Amino acid sequence: MFTVDAHLDLSMNAVEWNRDLTRSLEEIREREKGLTDKPDRGLGVVSLPEMRRGEIGLCVATQIGRYVEPGNPLPGYNSPEIAWAMTQAQLAWYRAMEEAGEMVQIVDRAGLDRHLEQWQSRSADGPLGYVLSLEGADSILTPGHLERSFASGLRAIGLSHYGDGRYCPGTGSTGGLTAMGRELLAEVQRLNLILDMTHLTDEAFWEVLELYDGPLWASHSNCRQLVPDQRQFSDEQIRELCQRDAVIGAAFDAWMLYPNWIRGETEPQTADVRISHVVDHIDHICNLVGDSRFCGIGSDLDGGYGREQCPTDLETIADLARVADILSDRGYSPEDVQGIMHGNWIRKLRDAWS
Ligand SMILES: [Zn+2]
Repeated sequence: MFTVDAHLDLSMNAVEWNRDLTRSLEEIREREKGLTDKPDRGLGVVSLPEMRRGEIGLCVATQIGRYVEPGNPLPGYNSPEIAWAMTQAQLAWYRAMEEAGEMVQIVDRAGLDRHLEQWQSRSADGPLGYVLSLEGADSILTPGHLERSFASGLRAIGLSHYGDGRYCPGTGSTGGLTAMGRELLAEVQRLNLILDMTHLTDEAFWEVLELYDGPLWASHSNCRQLVPDQRQFSDEQIRELCQRDAVIGAAFDAWMLYPNWIRGETEPQTADVRISHVVDHIDHICNLVGDSRFCGIGSDLDGGYGREQCPTDLETIADLARVADILSDRGYSPEDVQGIMHGNWIRKLRDAWS
């Protein structure tokens, strides 16, 4: 089934992990044998051929570059300018993929409709569609740089990621938007970018909803009720997001699926984390609001981890297709399943770009 994945860090993997995603997963894993610089060396689950095999013909693909102040233990760059340069290198990789016929950037409704039509007629042989997003806004040097990014095709943005941010604190942190953040948010709205609610602190979540009136989604977020953590949404937040017609992408990172996961210690096998746990989070949202139209997939399957932090029954990203089977087994109608696998994201993009 045609599938939309609303969160992949493809260019980060290409540029920072030095992964040639045009190659088979086997080859990518083979080349990483013996490397220890990243926790997921030799364990990656994402490649462009695997996306084609899994019919993941459209994704939201990120640029990402965090600024870290002296003493901040998180990985990142020592100046916003370096972070900007990294995101521009990532953009250059997407452009190279476009030139190679591997990917096509989707920036408007006409392009979206054209891509969906062509994908159907070519049955997965053509380029993979991507909507460009920025995960964490630290690399945006000035509001003018956001306008430049928009001109480069940027269509979605999250203000924060992990820890402190120049515009807004994120996961693992507390507090609301900075003065610069409020200014940037106004610019996000003026440009009609889709605001990504994932990774906001609780304070910033509610503040943003007060200040911002444009389109929003949560590209990769799960439910706090099932796995308690500030990174996940409370039921109250989920209800509010659905009120605002957001779509929430279910993430596959094992620690977001299993309560009390300890990174680097807990293993998917011992915790018995499966794809059905992802579906539990989708189920929770559908039951909470009585509708499936707000659910989708935002797998995050290449977000700095691989098989060591994935559901055990997931070998590659092509296994996203299992979500459709599990939903059907649980009694979801074919229309609901199609909505969750692709239709809800497509509706959201069409509405945002109408
Ligand atoms: Zn993330």
